[in-house]
Amino acid sequence: MATIITEECINCGVCEPECPNEAIDDGTKGGVDIYYIDPDLCTECVGFHGEEACQEVCPVDCCVPDEDRKETEEELLEKAMKIHPDQDFPALDDLTNETSLFRNPDRKNANL
Ligand code: SF4
Ligand code: SF4
Repeated sequence: MATIITEECINCGVCEPECPNEAIDDGTKGGVDIYYIDPDLCTECVGFHGEEACQEVCPVDCCVPDEDRKETEEELLEKAMKIHPDQDFPALDDLTNETSLFRNPDRKNANL
């Protein structure tokens, strides 16, 4: 499930440098006037963080799961490996609450 930015976005730009995949831009690529996440590059931060890094820093909590684009933890880890072919990632079974939001009940979006 990729993350999307909702219309509540205030264009502060804080999230953009936090994304490990450079999936976020200011809207010029997505053709919209709020910040935008490229779903092909969003891995929900699996392999890097225990929650969505964008949502963690967003002052208005507008980085939320896209219910129309559901992906498994395994699919997201594979996606991260393809985006970063030169980087070492934990094996699926070795992901923890610090490297996968699937294992982190305390993340900001846990109740969504
Ligand atoms: S959830 Fe993670 S990978 Fe997806 S856009 Fe946000 S920071 Fe980037
Ligand atoms: S941190 Fe939140 S409000 Fe700021 S640009 Fe990103 S999505 Fe928009």
